[in-house]
Amino acid sequence: MTISSFVRSQKPKRKQGQCLFCDGGVTKEHIFAQWVDDVLPPGPDETSHTASYGPLAFRGERPTRRDTKKQGDVTTIFVRKACKTCNEGWMRLLEDEVKAFMPQMIIGSPCVLSNDRMLSLARWAALKSITVDAKTPEYTSIPRKDCETLKTSEQPPKNWLIWIGRCVAAGREVGIQHRFLKSYDPSGNFDGGQSTTIRLGDVVVHVFCSPDLMRSGFYKHYIDQPKLMIPVWPPSKPSLIWPNSVPAMSDERCLALEEAIRVFSPPA
Ligand SMILES: [Zn+2]
Repeated sequence: MTISSFVRSQKPKRKQGQCLFCDGGVTKEHIFAQWVDDVLPPGPDETSHTASYGPLAFRGERPTRRDTKKQGDVTTIFVRKACKTCNEGWMRLLEDEVKAFMPQMIIGSPCVLSNDRMLSLARWAALKSITVDAKTPEYTSIPRKDCETLKTSEQPPKNWLIWIGRCVAAGREVGIQHRFLKSYDPSGNFDGGQSTTIRLGDVVVHVFCSPDLMRSGFYKHYIDQPKLMIPVWPPSKPSLIWPNSVPAMSDERCLALEEAIRVFSPPA
């Protein structure tokens, strides 16, 4: 039920009003499409949005926080980050692709995740990650070239890491959590990263990207080690049977994923 951002410092990057994926002007777009709301059981009608920032935030000390609450849960949140052509074109096609199997996954019903379906799921998660990353432009950390790659190559960028996992939902579980890691190498190039964790019913999807390949390598090892999540990008398995091939994780482990990026923060 939350949408949150965790940041290290603020630095505006992109022009407002331009589509993230092309030169078009932006229109209204929901973070989660209507089908997500339709498949989830009813629940509380409120979203909390937490933005935490400042170097102390990554040292476990008290960060500066901004908490806001909105009417309607996260499925009602919209952003203006893509143009009509993208929204009604490739983004809608992608939404239709995942709509063919994600509803079963969300409610824990058996379904086959073929190679193609895992790729659709990875692209969909990358799109959500980009959208939520851009929602608060002052905290944005995904480069525009990664957005363009997702659209033009029909794949997430090569250096991105995406996993799926399973956490059995007791009621309406819906949320997207975004964490930033802003850091710069000695020449002033951005070498931070971001993670996005999406929870929809029984489905947990975790996305990480960083221009620092060594950080990505450590991050991958850190997430893979407990063997609770299955990498879907880069692809690791030809197919999966949901839910049997995916181990169940606890709510605590699911919450820990959201904070995993803190482990990789450089000293403030
Ligand atoms: Zn566009």
